[in-house]
Amino acid sequence: MSVDKFTFNRENKSFDFLERGTGGAGWGTSVPIDALVPTHCAFCGVQCGMYLEVSQGRIVGVEPRDHPINKERLCPKGVVAYQQVNHPDRLRTPLIRRNGRLVKATWDEALDLVVGKIQEIQRTHGNDAMAVYGGSSITTEKAYLMGKFARVGLRTRYVDYNGRLCMVSAAAANLRAYGIDRLANPFSDIAETDCILTVGTNIAETFPVMIQYLWRARDRGAKLIVVDPRQTTTARTADIHLAVRPGSDPALLNSILHVIVKDGLIDQEFIDTRTRDFDKVRQAVEQYPPERAAQICDVPVEKIVETARMWARAPRAMILHARGLEHHITGTDGCLAVANILLATGKIGKPGCGGGTITGQGNGQGGREHGQKCDQLPGQRSINDPEARKYVAEVWGIPVEEMPPAGVSIVEMIPLMEQGAIRGMISLCNNSMVSLPNLNWIEPALKKLELYVVVDFFLSEVAAATATVVLPGSTWAEDEGVVANIEARCVKINKAVDPPPGARHDREIICEIARRLGRGQYFQFPTPRDVFDELRLASKGGNADWYGISYEKIESLGGVFWPCPTPESPGTPRLYEKRFYHSDGRAVFYPIEYRPPAEVPDPEYPYWLTTGRVVYHYLSGNQTRRLGFLSEESPEPWVEIHTERAAALGLQTGQRVRVRTRRGEVILPALVVRTIRPDTLFIPYHWGPPVAANLLTNPALDPISKIPEFKACAATIEAV
Ligand code: SF4
Repeated sequence: MSVDKFTFNRENKSFDFLERGTGGAGWGTSVPIDALVPTHCAFCGVQCGMYLEVSQGRIVGVEPRDHPINKERLCPKGVVAYQQVNHPDRLRTPLIRRNGRLVKATWDEALDLVVGKIQEIQRTHGNDAMAVYGGSSITTEKAYLMGKFARVGLRTRYVDYNGRLCMVSAAAANLRAYGIDRLANPFSDIAETDCILTVGTNIAETFPVMIQYLWRARDRGAKLIVVDPRQTTTARTADIHLAVRPGSDPALLNSILHVIVKDGLIDQEFIDTRTRDFDKVRQAVEQYPPERAAQICDVPVEKIVETARMWARAPRAMILHARGLEHHITGTDGCLAVANILLATGKIGKPGCGGGTITGQGNGQGGREHGQKCDQLPGQRSINDPEARKYVAEVWGIPVEEMPPAGVSIVEMIPLMEQGAIRGMISLCNNSMVSLPNLNWIEPALKKLELYVVVDFFLSEVAAATATVVLPGSTWAEDEGVVANIEARCVKINKAVDPPPGARHDREIICEIARRLGRGQYFQFPTPRDVFDELRLASKGGNADWYGISYEKIESLGGVFWPCPTPESPGTPRLYEKRFYHSDGRAVFYPIEYRPPAEVPDPEYPYWLTTGRVVYHYLSGNQTRRLGFLSEESPEPWVEIHTERAAALGLQTGQRVRVRTRRGEVILPALVVRTIRPDTLFIPYHWGPPVAANLLTNPALDPISKIPEFKACAATIEAV
């Protein structure tokens, strides 16, 4: 679902998805516009180009922009994103928790408290008693700053970011298979392909403007195969829909490769010249004939065979995946199984061939590259690599001995908070009381912190429930910087207005805390460009090399795909055309064995529960749930249940039902549908307690990527 400027009736604040043109005032406005500021939408990883309309220092509207990414299209979130900037809920003063309540404070009171408490905690319990938790919906400059602030400002090992709850399984698999963590292709390759296999992603709903590329391929006759437990809006248009049992995807993917090998559809020359270790995978997939996978996945044998042949016989083919594949204890395995298929068929590194993960967060391919991850330094370097530590320490001007070691993921920090090993945390742009799993476990751990500083521009659920200090920060429209979209195309966010009185730029807040801690010499960043220049240098020579990117180059080229190692380089829209990123230039096959989810249905909890997104909301909903049109269209979560099971339980659409797991319960309206597996329930996750889907989910982790198993656990449902 996407709209262009002719289908948005600005005067009536309503959408018309069927007719072009609205008559009357239409898109026009009587407010005199002083400036049209080119920028990009902040509400997903597509990063559609837009103009913000500014009148007398206020943002009053939006115009779609004819940018190569979106070509004047925006989705419902994009056309109202600007409304958060002047929203009455904006935080305009620091808040300090006193006697259990957040009360207003001056900036000096708040910062004195923050810095004094950090010093007390670290003096008494060591530097690692403080933690930093960043976000991936912020500019890369801020993401870089958060990583450096943790390691240089606080000198703690404990830093992680909320991409940990998004695409990290794909990241781990990418590094193993290809030696670099990035989507292999630009969007334009999707339009050129002949067959698209999607696994665990509802592109039409969650990436509404990106779906245009897929429709263009379909218009040329490309086939579409969708793997999803629900018959989603994307699946409804597919040639083949495989409604797999939640968490069974790796078995299906192994079986698809089994058929491809058996039918002689592999590319032996590509395997011989560009890869390593195929024989291990050949032996592994021998154990996954379609008959076995059909039992594990609960889909027909014929559909597995048809899928393998349709996809492998297509001259050009791609595989795209997202959280439905990745949010499992086998998330990394699933992504490696995808890589095995692409590599075995040689359908990668060529026009219309390849694929990978579709990142949901606004800066999904930039926010994770430059040092917020617990085990990475800028440039997508491993923090365990002595050379990388030495290089980045030099850029930062610290002795290499002072560079902290690797930390742990955010979910692994929770037990450390419970135990008192971590006693303070600073977070930017995340909302843990919606987005982390098993919230009944998370809340007391966060409340145990002696200092929990939340920097945000709205009072999120996590700030309201657990923060000891809240600092009012800036929106994307009040800042400039670079984000990298799903394709790894770096685009420029431009400042349209100043933060409202009382709020401050996030960059200034972090640098000021560092200054008050006596570490200001490492945080001399008067402007975002100063951060970007250091970031470029810190990334130089790494996998995610941004050294050759400049603000001006991005603007003049309509975006620059990283890696871009020199000012002369045009960037790298398509990866792997000549070599992979392991030192020998080859990709690596990894044999995968299917493992069931950590928790499976039983007589007490007989359903699978899975979660996901809706078109009207962005991630934890802290931004979109406040915007009138979006909250009117989607005011509360619901639980989808199949018609057959609803009839057996006597449930009807709209009826309040209780959904329970071993971790908690929620009461929601039922939505009775034919478009979900009868053994599966689905809840969108954009809301906080008491209706949060994540009161129910399982915090079991993928052993490699450390992603929680959001997408499969055992649940029960009953009438209230
Ligand atoms: S939410 Fe995503 S698809 Fe929608 S306008 Fe924004 S960037 Fe584009």
